[in-house]
Amino acid sequence: MSRSPRRTENRTPPPAPDSPETAAIFCRGLSKQYGEVRALDGLDLAVPRGSVFGFLGRNGAGKTTTMRLLAGLAFPSAGRAWIDGMETTSANRLARSRFGYLPQSPAFYNWMTAREYLDYVGRIQEIAPDARQRQIDELLELSGLKEASRRKVGGFSGGMIQRLGIAQALIGNPPVLLLDEPTSSLDPAGRYEVLEMITRISGSRTVFFSSHILNDIERVCDSLAVLHKGRLLLVSGVEALLAQYPVDAVELELDPSGGETNAGAPAAFTSALQNLPWVASVKTEGRLIRIMVKNVPDGKRELVPLIAKLGPTVNRYEWIRPSLEDIFLQMSS
Ligand code: ATP
Repeated sequence: MSRSPRRTENRTPPPAPDSPETAAIFCRGLSKQYGEVRALDGLDLAVPRGSVFGFLGRNGAGKTTTMRLLAGLAFPSAGRAWIDGMETTSANRLARSRFGYLPQSPAFYNWMTAREYLDYVGRIQEIAPDARQRQIDELLELSGLKEASRRKVGGFSGGMIQRLGIAQALIGNPPVLLLDEPTSSLDPAGRYEVLEMITRISGSRTVFFSSHILNDIERVCDSLAVLHKGRLLLVSGVEALLAQYPVDAVELELDPSGGETNAGAPAAFTSALQNLPWVASVKTEGRLIRIMVKNVPDGKRELVPLIAKLGPTVNRYEWIRPSLEDIFLQMSS
């Protein structure tokens, strides 16, 4: 399987909006108290229209609480929120047409087929039959579920379930999508499919998705906010955040067919590396060698000749920056 999708085109986030009218999502002082627990503490956030916005936090950070407040499914203890200019924290039923919502653990009628389920959601929204059928056909295509459209949902994989969940959130063509941890329960193949679908549906519409998986946010989002223990730690463009953390390591992947040569290579190679002035530390994990680097220009000059001299067969080498995972660990520790 190839690597997860990566939005390489135009990852520059749109400028931050400054009012509920201009923002896709806007909240001020949004808070939720459950007894002793301050689940969300004064969240101020402005999500630009057209953004793919990652809402990142560990378990219990307050992501689901935020999503439910934004969607009008829970009432805030304080603060207000708007989606596409309409307040969602004031029990305004009209605001429901401004967003689609995928809950963290979506429940489906297992005996329905995918097509029947989308039709059921379309009927609830009172979409006329012709327009409904057209939309369902488009959404089955978009979610890659066309072939499976007449299969019962009970037999779907986790990835198919989440893609159906995103498809149902798109019924009625809302300008904003709220996706609560759409990839968290999935295996790598399922995550790939869901991320690919998110990339496909982004563009004119705003996608706000929560996750504790940094890789997923790094791959598809232009912006992110980090939530920690109910408080906002940071809002940034993904690229701008990564740019603050320069390249500081190189990763090598040894070829498994290197056999004898590679079997001995890590030891000989890593001990040679450890004595070099540009190397800070070396870590080996199976066929992966990660070299933390003190002096990147020296490393770039000397690494390839060293590989040629000591002979490990290398499939891939890549100069890397700290991942969002590393950055997040630094910020939230
Ligand atoms: P996860 O990824 O585990 O779903 P999360 O970031 O979505 O985490 P929330 O589910 O919003 O976090 O929970 C935030 C805090 O609020 C947690 O301490 C949680 O135990 C608490 N909490 C959430 N819902 C309720 C509730 N209905 N009653 C009491 N406490 C709650």
